[in-house]
Amino acid sequence: MSWKDNLIKIQPYTAGEQPNKTDFIKLNANENPYPPSPEVIRAIREFNGENLKKYPNADAVPLRAALAKRFGLECENVFAGNGSDDVLALCFRAFFNSGKPIIYPDITYSFYPVWCEMLKIPYETIPVDENFNINAADYDRPNGGVVIANPNAPTSIGRGPDFIREILDCNRESVVIVDEAYVDFGGISALPLLNEYENLVITQTFSKSRSMAGMRIGYALGNKEIISALFAAKDSYNSYPMDSVAIAAGIASVEDEEYFAETISRVISSRERLTEGLRAFGFDLPDSSANFVFAEHPKYAARDICEFLKTKDIYVRYFSKPRIDNRLRITVGTEEEIDKLLDALAGLK
Ligand SMILES: *Cc1c(COP(=O)(O)O)cnc(C)c1O
Repeated sequence: MSWKDNLIKIQPYTAGEQPNKTDFIKLNANENPYPPSPEVIRAIREFNGENLKKYPNADAVPLRAALAKRFGLECENVFAGNGSDDVLALCFRAFFNSGKPIIYPDITYSFYPVWCEMLKIPYETIPVDENFNINAADYDRPNGGVVIANPNAPTSIGRGPDFIREILDCNRESVVIVDEAYVDFGGISALPLLNEYENLVITQTFSKSRSMAGMRIGYALGNKEIISALFAAKDSYNSYPMDSVAIAAGIASVEDEEYFAETISRVISSRERLTEGLRAFGFDLPDSSANFVFAEHPKYAARDICEFLKTKDIYVRYFSKPRIDNRLRITVGTEEEIDKLLDALAGLK
């Protein structure tokens, strides 16, 4: 026996590659190509650094109040954390304690199995169909919890409110998490269902639609009991996950609705152009409701395209996983980045 036998044995989540150079096009982590609102940059510049000597507001109350106002909820319906990965990990810890397997699609955010492994939560995956669609009726079975990303990642497919309602209707006894990391890019939020289903919790993030991946802000929306379970989990682990700068910057972002809407509409119109451009090259891809597309070419292997693009300093995401190992997940960049990507693809042979 050695102390080494007692180290954690886990296959961690692998994030998109972060090459150690400056001049390249990064379309592999679904970051927003535009900067955050100028109000965010101003809030950071005007932040009084002397205040860092104090702990931040432990429950991020001012930011939660701003979010509650935006969504027409009470502060007690909002939890905020250090990125939605942090919030989701706390959700798994706080809600999935039945000992029964939780369920989620076989093709979805690859962090879910990692949290299950780390927290020793049993899980089962349910295959999506051949077009990557989730069949809501498949979720009518005993479980210890349900997790659905909508729009789903990495498929980019978004579904309407009846789809989530159908899943909720057959899952009254377990918590249903809807991960809405991409909802602002044209997905349909389950927000209006919060009044009707007390076991629904929605998570969202500032990383994608608010161009603040580097600031680490995520949040959950749900009924008061759900949210207080999250606070209990947080306060048993890390009392101050959100720093004071993030709280100030987050509020500035939420208060600049106009910039938010404008950035999203730019990304959506670029997504349509990217989709058409890829289809013109023979790629197959579903219509995206997110800030990325999920494309396959009938002639060229995805792995080869990914490596080829790297030689042109363009990074896209490839997953060597069953069912999706011939697909590329490509983030919607600026118009110029899309031009460069399409130009590079014209050189494939
Ligand atoms: C990006 C992403 C998240 C979390 O992002 P954070 O940066 O931690 O807020 C959660 N779920 C999905 C599906 C994502 O793609």
